[in-house]
Amino acid sequence: MKIKNFFGHLHTVNKHRWCVFKLSVRAGIPIRGLLHDLSKYSFVEFFEGVKYYNGKRSPIHFCKEANGYSNAWLHHKGRNKHHFEYWYDFALEEKAIVIPQKYAFEMVCDTLAAGIVYKGKAWNQKEPLKYFEARKDKEYINPKIQDFLVAVYTEVAEKGIKEVVTNKNLKRLYSKYVNNVSK
Ligand SMILES: [Zn+2]
Repeated sequence: MKIKNFFGHLHTVNKHRWCVFKLSVRAGIPIRGLLHDLSKYSFVEFFEGVKYYNGKRSPIHFCKEANGYSNAWLHHKGRNKHHFEYWYDFALEEKAIVIPQKYAFEMVCDTLAAGIVYKGKAWNQKEPLKYFEARKDKEYINPKIQDFLVAVYTEVAEKGIKEVVTNKNLKRLYSKYVNNVSK
């Protein structure tokens, strides 16, 4: 184990969590922000992260490339409700279930923070929408949640994070696209 990677990975996780926390406060879900990604400090997630540390992209990606799968990811997605993969059940008729509001908000904060932390100076407010549109796994996200996410990222592209990521505005968009209530 490289000591440089140990601290590098620890720093990335802490920096990401701090960025998510600040956004979560804006989004009105501070507790979710505090609890965000705590499983990344578990043995299985943390040491895989150290081994495949890169700094520019998630180590999970490099582990999958090397081994065909990632134990850290399987552990992470089963425990963290801010991932749409958590809300997918092959046994159900409607396989992709609606993600409850606070976790949908946390998911927005997570995606924004991940882009900001990994992309650094190359990040701009159009990035989250571009990233979402390029995803090839959207069929696993509930269609209403997809509409909500597109609406949020479109607004971020147009107006920036400060104006869009507020509790009031996210609630408005969630009501409109998920609960079908227009305000
Ligand atoms: Zn996570």
